[in-house]
Amino acid sequence: MSRLCVVTGGSRGIGRAVLRLMAQNGCRVAVVSRNQGAALPVVASLDGVDHMAFSCDVSKEEEVQKTFEEIQKTCGSISYLVNAAGINRDGLLLRTKPEDMVALIHTNLMGSMLTCKAALRSMLQIQGGAIVNIGSVVGMKGNAGQTVYSASKAGLEGFTRSLAKEVASRNIRVNLLAPGLIRTDMTEGLREAKEVRNVPLGRFGEPEEVAQAVFFLLESPYITGQVLVVDGGLQLGM
Ligand code: NDP
Repeated sequence: MSRLCVVTGGSRGIGRAVLRLMAQNGCRVAVVSRNQGAALPVVASLDGVDHMAFSCDVSKEEEVQKTFEEIQKTCGSISYLVNAAGINRDGLLLRTKPEDMVALIHTNLMGSMLTCKAALRSMLQIQGGAIVNIGSVVGMKGNAGQTVYSASKAGLEGFTRSLAKEVASRNIRVNLLAPGLIRTDMTEGLREAKEVRNVPLGRFGEPEEVAQAVFFLLESPYITGQVLVVDGGLQLGM
């Protein structure tokens, strides 16, 4: 049977591009996101790609546990996990409400921790697997107006490196991919002409360009605990 790849946040943006690329490369794909419109898994189609869709809020431990049990029951063992589910709540720290801080940390950091934990149970049984967590360049270099978002992504980097060490002996690899400015719903409100002044390649990235790098990390058998930056040079500065 072909490999199963679970993609959180696979209903839109970067996750959706990962869904397409993994399916094109012969994987079966299970998508996890909140708004799938049904409590039970459904066979769904996005961009002509058939996959199993699971409704689950990754910030809720019980939902994650139940969903991953259901994924294994319905689709079999999990070989790959891509954590692309994420939110942003941009604003200066002094104006950020505690409930927004909680939502950011619970979704971006806790959510990935919970799904990694749930998927590892399956990967340990099959003695192998690969995980890619989606971080952000702002988790590495900081950005005014994104303090808590940056903290959630910086936390994910430490988590990824430590987990990579913890599970390497079990033939499971864990890497972080840090995108820059990518054209998705998340960046819709940004003024592209202004933002790209800081991007040496002079444009936003496309979700497909991030998906290519995710695929590379999933399929590279001797890479673990690394951060791969996909940002058109943003981190270098102009
Ligand atoms: P989008 O807003 O386009 O998509 C976000 C996805 O995450 C959706 O599928 C959404 O589905 C899902 N999601 C959000 N919250 C939850 C939740 N609690 N439980 C389950 N699913 C959830 O974002 P992008 O594709 O742009 O971002 C993907 C990842 O890349 C995020 O982690 C983001 O932080 C990161 N990133 C993005 C950058 C960019 O420029 N776009 C730059 C750097 C990092 P639903 O709403 O149905 O739950």
